[in-house]
Amino acid sequence: MLPDGVNNFSFFYSRSLALFAGKKTSFLFLFASFAYFAGKKIPMAFIEDKLPENRPGKFYVDRQCIDCDVCRDTAPANFTRNDNNGYSYLYKQPENGQEIALCEEAMNACPVEAIGDDGVEVNFQAA
Ligand code: SF4
Repeated sequence: MLPDGVNNFSFFYSRSLALFAGKKTSFLFLFASFAYFAGKKIPMAFIEDKLPENRPGKFYVDRQCIDCDVCRDTAPANFTRNDNNGYSYLYKQPENGQEIALCEEAMNACPVEAIGDDGVEVNFQAA
């Protein structure tokens, strides 16, 4: 279990630095890396890798998707599959509290952190 604010990326990054630096300084590198990343929110997905089929809005799937079906099973009203290319994407942004909660659940359950929630907000009232 990793501390709050430290995700797998920061953990493996810091471990890699520690291993590279050698035994004497490994603890210092590890400590410095944890201190740097602790409290920072590192995006689970990368918006620059967002798949083109995603509808504009807060949630999106990026190119890390491994087509495991978890998000489609969790939030079927929002996620669907690109059958030709074998990945998921947001075919509809959530429009109410229940759908937002299910999209967040899917995002947290995605095994490869391919779902992001730092996309552009869309005002559905104005659309
Ligand atoms: S849960 Fe993640 S890896 Fe699985 S299909 Fe959805 S976006 Fe892809």
